Amino acid sequence: MNNEYFTIQQASEGIWGAISVPGSGSLGNAAIIDLGDLTVVVDTTNLPHSAALLRHTAEQLTNKPVKYVVNTHFHGDHVNGNQEFMSSELISTVWTRDLLADMGEVNIDVMQQNIRRLITSLDHMRSQERDPHMLTGIGYDLSVQRALYDTIPSLRRVIPKITFDDKLVIRGTKRTIEVLSYGGGHSLSDAVVYVPEERTLITGDLVSTKTIPVIPYGNPYAWIRILKRMQQDLKIDTVVPGHGDISNSDRITDVIHFLEKMIAYVAGAVTSGQSESYWLEQGVLKGYEDWHLPQYFRWNFRWLFNSMLVQNNR
Ligand SMILES: [Zn+2]
Repeated sequence: MNNEYFTIQQASEGIWGAISVPGSGSLGNAAIIDLGDLTVVVDTTNLPHSAALLRHTAEQLTNKPVKYVVNTHFHGDHVNGNQEFMSSELISTVWTRDLLADMGEVNIDVMQQNIRRLITSLDHMRSQERDPHMLTGIGYDLSVQRALYDTIPSLRRVIPKITFDDKLVIRGTKRTIEVLSYGGGHSLSDAVVYVPEERTLITGDLVSTKTIPVIPYGNPYAWIRILKRMQQDLKIDTVVPGHGDISNSDRITDVIHFLEKMIAYVAGAVTSGQSESYWLEQGVLKGYEDWHLPQYFRWNFRWLFNSMLVQNNR
């Protein structure tokens, strides 16, 4: 069942995670759920060719075609593979659907130009970097961008046709799933898939395992509220995260703590009078040095620092 892009990890009875292999070019986890009479896939990874393998794997594991695909949010590493599920029904929140629709058709030239630029800047970052953990993270990013670059000419935007606001229930003969949204935290609109019978939650990027969460253009305050509400409302033993390995509900607490500490850290930095570059030189927030994708820390810091500066100057 495993391939170069993802490993299949069983989360619970009838639920599997397709966990992206770092450095393979693949980014973003997906999940497969066997509802008995129908099969659901959650998210489609960043690459159409890994999505084709995902569909094949789902059909093999459940012995059925994939009836529904849920997109947890609009980020490319969760929706780029949609085009491999043309005979399935795609589902997302209204917002996520609108965001994808507003992006229009894939503009091959512009996208290639942007990714070429990104690859150049990652190459530059790598040549300046000494920290081995950071170098590994940048290397993973490079593999992802290079794989995406090659796939752009065949990339098509496929937009969900079934939308919901805060809750959609799909009942199968063996188990039921609840597709839930508590608004936007990581992105403008985030959905999760909850399987009550198996006490399992597929979180999209609201939760990642030991991976620096991506905050820019989201809302870290709302994100914390969403995670706390999920802890309160849902009985969760198993988490299939957006990035990293399958784990338990402690990973939700990890992300809450990270976001709370990050907000306090950046707020302190803003009032310190020291420059942004001074703070960036301090490296990753203490206690999170071993988390994956440490290069996202700088991006988070910059974005949050500047958002808070703007707020303070209002
Ligand atoms: Zn994301």
